[in-house]
Amino acid sequence: KTLLRKTIDKIKSESLAKVDWAGTTYEWSEDVNRVLRHTFKLNSFRPKQLSAINSTIAGQHALVVMPTGAGKSLCYQLPALIKPGITIVISPLISLMEDQVRLLTIRNIPAKLITSTTSRDETTTVLNLLKDKNTPIKLLYVTPERLAKSKMFMANLQKCYADGRLQRIAIDEVHCCSQWGHDFRPDYKFLGILSGMFPNVPILGLTATATAHVLNDVQKILNIQGCLVIKSTFNRPNLFYKILEKPTSQEECVTILEKLLKFRYKGESGIIYTNSIKECQDLAEELRKRGLKVGCYHAQMEACSRSKVHSKWHDKYYQAIVATVAFGMGIDKPDVRFIIHHTISKSMENYYQESGRAGRDGKRAECVTLFRMQDIFKVSPMVFSSAGNLDKLYGMIKYCLNGKYCRRQLIAEHFEEDWGLADCNKMCDVCTNPCSVLKEISLENHCQAISCVFDKAESTDTKLTAQKLLSAWFLTGPVNLRHKCVEPKFSRNLGEDVIAFLLINGYIVEDFHFTPYSTISYLKKGPNMESVTDVDFSLKMTVRKYSNFDLDRPAPRDLESKESSNDEVRQERPEKSKKVSPIAEPKAKKS
Ligand code: ADP
Ligand code: MG
Ligand code: ZN
Repeated sequence: KTLLRKTIDKIKSESLAKVDWAGTTYEWSEDVNRVLRHTFKLNSFRPKQLSAINSTIAGQHALVVMPTGAGKSLCYQLPALIKPGITIVISPLISLMEDQVRLLTIRNIPAKLITSTTSRDETTTVLNLLKDKNTPIKLLYVTPERLAKSKMFMANLQKCYADGRLQRIAIDEVHCCSQWGHDFRPDYKFLGILSGMFPNVPILGLTATATAHVLNDVQKILNIQGCLVIKSTFNRPNLFYKILEKPTSQEECVTILEKLLKFRYKGESGIIYTNSIKECQDLAEELRKRGLKVGCYHAQMEACSRSKVHSKWHDKYYQAIVATVAFGMGIDKPDVRFIIHHTISKSMENYYQESGRAGRDGKRAECVTLFRMQDIFKVSPMVFSSAGNLDKLYGMIKYCLNGKYCRRQLIAEHFEEDWGLADCNKMCDVCTNPCSVLKEISLENHCQAISCVFDKAESTDTKLTAQKLLSAWFLTGPVNLRHKCVEPKFSRNLGEDVIAFLLINGYIVEDFHFTPYSTISYLKKGPNMESVTDVDFSLKMTVRKYSNFDLDRPAPRDLESKESSNDEVRQERPEKSKKVSPIAEPKAKKS
């Protein structure tokens, strides 16, 4: 039965995908154009906006997948004005809704919202609008919580539907339905009843999360399997991606940030992401001591001080906000010129969302991540308890360790897209110095040495942190842990990369221990370590190199124009379409 269902869904979505939804000869096309110009005061659509708009006006259920800042809101705001009736917009964030309603009101588009903070009188007024045949209101914003918990709202919505005035249901940040998405909201599950309760009312889900897994899950939860999926490319050509080697001492690390802010990003706005509230506060303090104007933003702050910090940054009083991931959805500053990750994100999806807040105005912006091995073990204890999260973190580490492939290629692979190399246009650290020879190191002997350290530790009942393992391997730590194999001839920094590499490839695994105050990650032999004694065992790692990156001089402001024409770009494609794994697959299989 499920197989049949899946086949039907597949045929359905394939035939839907064949329609040219970007057409301009629909009966509503003229109206759409007029509203775009006169009401929204925009000249043209961005990629895929028109497809989304046409399909939803045509009554199709659809999921719109576009990167942050691509312009998803227009995909439901504009259609709302084409036909009679109300569009319900479900959105998880009150500040985001308030912003939109404010902007719509400025453009004379009648819109309202109800949230948990709306006054009782106002709520009653708004609820009555749903029953009022003569209401001018075109868009009604509501939180999923309100929908799930207010019977009155649902009753009035049913009335609205019965009167034929429920035009469309738009669900913003629709990935919140799925536990696989990065900000799961239990109340989004409730939205599953909508498609059955309001037949023939098109549902339009919008998100920046593109993985097939999440999208399938969302369709299942909303009961719109096989619906049209409209996806625009995730490439952000104006963002420059860079990994910087993070110094061991916090002092030096602050110096790097100081230089970046004082010179490279002088007079520009940005965000510095940190991994915990403590780190966020400390770093902001350090930077202030060095004369920088930075704000601090995290979840434990009162709503009013958060919004104060936000607006001081908006008005350029603060150059940067040092933030935890709590500073996220709802940032609509177009001229963010830099996003610095002081600590790695917990997944590529998170990283892409966070870094994507830069350069919404289309001008050049930089995304710089400071990475070194220790940070893995700062993040892993925070994520390991949920299934799959550790693998997501390791995906992020794979990206950081990469020194061989274009960063865009790795991002594209992650989002299951296929971008050509020309799509980068030298906008990543790997592509900016491609000519230098890549150095590879053989890890066979080192694996044996590390395996030996693990054995010694086990026989003496010693728990190994990554630092301890590193020291013993480099023959500097406690004598009883030292091995008699080959001693590494390279720097400890590279040694750290090797350990990270072995970790993400299953030669080493983390073993978490709880103390009353924290969770500690110790290291153990992983399943793949068994094969290191095999005669034909071989394992190579490409050494990442550090391209020039001037901390002391202003970042380039303009994008270089593409040298090649689009046709030439096309011709290069076939070769690139073969999947390349950025890091050599481990020889042995995980058991
Ligand atoms: P998303 O929800 O995808 O993150 P938004 O809907 O918030 O993006 O839009 C981001 C910005 O892009 C807004 O300032 C919006 O006015 C602008 N925008 C959207 N569509 C267009 C367009 N067709 N032309 C120019 N600007 C647009
Ligand atoms: Mg949005
Ligand atoms: Zn590149």
